[in-house]
Amino acid sequence: MVTICLGLEGTAHSFGAGVVSSDGKVMSNVWDMIRPQKGGIHPREAARHHSEKGPTIIRHALEEAGVTAQDIQLVAFSRGPGLGPCLRTTATMARVLALHLSVPLVGVNHCVAHIEIGCLESGFQDPVTVYVSGGNTQVIAFAGGRFRTFGETLDIAIGNMLDVFGRSAGMRFPAGPEIEREAQLGREYHALPYSVKGMDLSYSGMLTAARRLLSGGVPLPDVCFSIQETAFGMLAEIAERAIAHTKKRELLLTGGVARNSRLTEILSGVAVRHDVRFHRVSPSLAGDQGAMIAWTGILQYLAGNTVDVAESQVLPRWRTDEQEIRWRAM
Ligand code: AMP
Ligand code: MG
Repeated sequence: MVTICLGLEGTAHSFGAGVVSSDGKVMSNVWDMIRPQKGGIHPREAARHHSEKGPTIIRHALEEAGVTAQDIQLVAFSRGPGLGPCLRTTATMARVLALHLSVPLVGVNHCVAHIEIGCLESGFQDPVTVYVSGGNTQVIAFAGGRFRTFGETLDIAIGNMLDVFGRSAGMRFPAGPEIEREAQLGREYHALPYSVKGMDLSYSGMLTAARRLLSGGVPLPDVCFSIQETAFGMLAEIAERAIAHTKKRELLLTGGVARNSRLTEILSGVAVRHDVRFHRVSPSLAGDQGAMIAWTGILQYLAGNTVDVAESQVLPRWRTDEQEIRWRAM
């Protein structure tokens, strides 16, 4: 018997609802993102966006999947990590739905969900994952019953660095795609701080230096080109080391920044050098969306890992390795 799960994602700027079945079919995946006219994202404004848009997005997800609310056998939600107000708003919707429909509730770790949807799409069993987004930069692999973070940013996430730089260059949020287009026109590389510390990396020094290049008159395409080559080169180095240490045979690239073609090219080069398989999660499943929450919710549910509504408080600082992974062989 197949189980149909509705997954709600709302850790940050995006709210998404996806319907997925236990045989691995993504039946729908609808989302919307708050795009501030100026400045960054305010957690309370993002939460208001989710509460205003949420019900319509959920309705569209059900319609697109060709199901009614009564067909939903399971509700999963992004329990963390993320921005408190956004998480609470999303969790409230999930609790109400689970209670109203009398179905189990599952609290999903957002980072784990990015990995599991990538595994579903690629058929990968046990990859090293490079997860790069607006709020996260992590190199993760499964070891000893948990997804372990082998390396991560010590300060800001790569997507955040791109967006903040882009804002100072007059670009709209999110700036990643425009930086990628500019970088393709870049001709000259200008040195930027290359900051890898063991398995961790840092992007804040690079952000300051890149802004200084721009205000010092270096053409925007050259600055964007230099940012990409440096930032992606750093990621390649720690991904490479993670593959060498763990001896895993698959490399998965996911998160919103995975949409970048140059990053994809660099990491697929790493995979070729180490003779491992490579997969870049397709754009519709790479960013924050509900299908990844629904799919991970199913895996968790089938492993007996649901949560009582009364104990389903959100976990804004939930680390990837704090989630017990009962559905994967140790
Ligand atoms: P997420 O947080 O997973 O929804 O991803 C959003 C982040 O992905 C933002 O920081 C965007 O700037 C970034 N992003 C989206 N498309 C691209 C791209 N083509 N190149 C680099 N970054 C991108
Ligand atoms: Mg994400």
